[in-house]
Formats: sequence, C-alpha cells, structure tokens
Amino acid sequence: MAAMDGFEGELKELREVFKSGKTREASWRRAQLHGILSLFKERESDILKALNQDLGKHHVEAYRDEIGTVIKSANYALGNLKKWMASKSAKLPLASFPASAKLVQEPLGVVLIISAWNFPFGLSFEPIIGAIAAGNAVILKPSELSPTCSSVLANTIRDYLDNSGIKVVEGGSDVGENLLRHKFDKIFFTGGPRVGEIVMTAAAKFLTPVTLELGGKCPAVVDFISSSWDKKIAVKRIIWGKYGACGGQACIAIDYILTHKKFAPTLVELLQKYIKKSFGDNPMESHSLAKIVNKRHFSRLKQLLEEPGVKSSIVYGGKSDEQNLFIEPTILLDPPLDSLIMTEEIFGPLLPIITLEKIEDSVEFIRARPNPLAVYGFTTNQNLQKKMIAETSSGAITFNDAIIQYVADTLPFGGVGGSGFGRYHGKYSFETFSHEKAVMRRGYLIDFGFRYPPWNNKKLQLLKSGLRYDYITLVLIKLGLKSKAC
Ligand code: NAD
Repeated sequence: MAAMDGFEGELKELREVFKSGKTREASWRRAQLHGILSLFKERESDILKALNQDLGKHHVEAYRDEIGTVIKSANYALGNLKKWMASKSAKLPLASFPASAKLVQEPLGVVLIISAWNFPFGLSFEPIIGAIAAGNAVILKPSELSPTCSSVLANTIRDYLDNSGIKVVEGGSDVGENLLRHKFDKIFFTGGPRVGEIVMTAAAKFLTPVTLELGGKCPAVVDFISSSWDKKIAVKRIIWGKYGACGGQACIAIDYILTHKKFAPTLVELLQKYIKKSFGDNPMESHSLAKIVNKRHFSRLKQLLEEPGVKSSIVYGGKSDEQNLFIEPTILLDPPLDSLIMTEEIFGPLLPIITLEKIEDSVEFIRARPNPLAVYGFTTNQNLQKKMIAETSSGAITFNDAIIQYVADTLPFGGVGGSGFGRYHGKYSFETFSHEKAVMRRGYLIDFGFRYPPWNNKKLQLLKSGLRYDYITLVLIKLGLKSKAC
C-alpha cells in the first residue's frame, strides 16, 4: 500500500471511471480530442504568454512547437481514431482449423505521464492525445521548472477536458516520487536518464510497462558541400536545428557537428554569417532565441565553457547575461573529446565542431558513443547515407535537415539504448497506450483426433503438417499449386 500522500482520491476516481467503461467509449475519446482543440484555440494567448515567461520563447516559435504541432496531432488522431480502434483479423495455422481470430485494441487503464520543461505543452499533450485516443484514464505531472506553463496546463485541462478521467498533478521531484509509489498501468516518462532510472525502478515493483523518452548527444555529420545553394540551405538548417527550438534545449537539437578538416573553416564562416542574419549582432535583443530555463542550467552551461581547452576552442560567441539567463549562440572548434561538453548532453546554445580527416570516420565516432535520439547527415553522398543508416544506431536518422522528423505523424518518435525506449506520435502513440489482445473463436463442429493422446507416429506427422502450414497453404499444396518446401 502506498503511504497517504493526497493522491489516493484522484487515483481512486480515475480507476473507477476507467472501470465504468466511460473512457473506452469512442464518443468520450472524440470529445476529449475536440476539447484539446478548443483549449488551444481559446487559450492560445495564455499558452504563448506562459511559454514566453518561463522560457523566453518567441510567439512564432512557441506557436510552431507547442500549439500548431499539438493541433495537428489532435486532428490526426480524430481523423484516424475509427481505423485505429477497429479490430483486425489474423491468419491461423491448420492446427486450429476451423477458427477465426482477431486483434482487439484495448486500453491499458490508468496511465501516468511525466513531462519535461523544454516543451511543456507539446511533451504533455502529445502523449495525452495517444492515451486518450486509446481509451485510458490519465494523470499528468508536468515539470516544475516551467511553473507558469505547469499552472496553465493544470487550469486549462481542468476547464476543457473531463476531469473525472484526466487529471493534472503539479509539483517537483517529491510529487513525482509520491506518484511513483502508486500502481499505474503504464508510465510514460520524458526527461533525463537519471530520473528515467528512478521511474523504471519504481515501475518494476508493480511490473508496470514504461516508455522512456530520454535525451543524449545528437550528432550532425556535415559532408563537404560544393554547391553554394546547398551550402547556404544546409547551414541555415543547421542553425535552426541547433538554436531554433528552445535555444538548443531540445532533446533532438543538434548537439555537435562532425565535419572534414578542410571544410571546417568554410563551415564556421557560414555559420557565423547566418547566425548574424537570424539573430542580429545582439541575439538577446532579437527575442528570437529562447533563454536558459534557470540559474542552475545557466551555470552548468557556463561551466562547460570554462573547462581547460574548451574556452580556447571558442571561435564565435561565448558571451552571456546571467540576469536574463541568456547565452549567445556559440561555436567551438575541436574542444577536447574528453571534456564535459563532448561527453554530456549540452542542452543549450553551444555548438562544438569536431574535425575529421575523412567524413566516413564520423560513423566510427558515433558508434563509439551511446545511441543518440537522432543522427543527422548533411550530405547528398548516397554511399555515406547508406553507411550511416546501416552502421549507426539512433531513434531516427534525418538527412539534410534536423528536428523536422518530430512533426511527422507517420514516423515513430523515440530512442534506442541510452536515448530511451518505446515510441509515440500518430498511430504509434495509440499503440503505446494500448494492449493488442488476441481473440480466437472456435466452434465444436470439426475436431481433429491427432491433437489428443494416445500418441503414435501418424499423429506426429499430422501434427507436423498442422503446425507448419495454414489451411490455405495446405489446400494449395494438395492441389499442386505450391511446393511443400515453402
Ligand atoms: P528531468 O529528468 O529532470 O525531469 C523530468 C520530469 O521528471 C519532471 O517532470 C520532473 O519533475 C520529474 N522528476 C524529477 N525527479 C523525479 C523523481 N525523483 N521522481 C519522479 N519524477 C521526477 O528532465 P528535465 O530536466 O525536465 O528535461 C531534460 C531532459 O529530458 C534532457 O535529458 C532531454 O534530452 C530529455 N528530453 C527528452 C525528450 C524526448 O522526447 N525524448 C524531450 C524533452 C526532453
């Protein structure tokens, strides 16, 4: 039994509502998804204000990452809900003839979603959409590090969604730990690996399945680019993929670049040019770059720059403003590989460039490190693309752009190895919060004696055929239309 911590009432209500079957109704699921659409339409300005207050996000960036994407995902779920919920028929082996089988989608129950601060609305609502679409009751714990957003999440969800089936609990690690003392039917966690371990350990006690959406260092391999048009577009996209989403505080932001030694001077020059074009001479005044979330992260990033050998590798930027928690876009050339900036997830606007003799060496460089959430390749060289796909492992791999894979409902989003496990977005979110139940139906009309003892070798032969073929294949073999070997 969990100690009394104030959540018993909420959890009991969620469990009862789930048991009542209310959240399983297609009409309930649709109503909640429509509720999310109304919430984002009617409370857009509150959301934008909160994102600006907590993270300094420009309203255009905030709309793109945390409103537009969620509206897109809710509409996508509404458009596909009927198809996702439908049962699917399955083929059966001869051994079970005559029978029919189906795969039935069933919700898991009461699910806990713990989200991170860098995209407080996106990272809360993307999994909520999947959990609701799949017919679950939901409890959300947003991050305490974006407190205004957390409060707007709690208030708007209370106003627009059915609170008997969807609740928000606000608070920090203590609240998270208290929640984890309870039994859930699924825990969906977005955050760092340290807390991921805590979540998984707590879940193990109840054998609760978990999805861990963690982070890591996402490399961008930048090949030699000769065309001036391609060079310009690639550099603009690299800047966007590093600084354009929450100022580099994004799990799929480019963490560092790997490039040819001979191409590095051109790359640095172009990066500087386009950083200036994007953010001007005084990036803080551009208001187009998010601030660092808090003092602790600001100091952590400053310390990364202070390490021996790192400061001297700065080739652009490096200035910061503690009062406004702002660090300007910074580029470093060949910082030591054993420095923290090259061993820990940066999560901020610092961009190390590591130079290599041959661009193909980037594959071994990536393989020697933990699996990232995303690998990016800026190259049109098909052989290099193939080598990167075949020989590196990551949640996703994107060529000639960055971050953009996040908005594709048709692509699973999630990590592998150190960057987490489980996946979501689009249909994958529905599957993450569903159990696909095997349903088999038989009648009594026909019954094969070879399945019952007493055993003999004839029964063994029949069993071998019965287990090997489905009955359509067996009929085709009998008719001579298919060979036995296949
Ligand atoms: P975090 O792990 O510190 O916190 C995440 C959530 O866990 C917060 O809600 C926090 O309150 C809660 N928490 C903290 N301690 C807890 C405890 N002991 N028990 C229960 N809950 C607890 O992560 P963060 O700083 O919010 O986010 C940054 C990290 O998240 C980075 O590593 C980043 O890469 C990763 N991230 C991953 C994704 C993704 O989609 N894969 C997205 C965003 C961020």
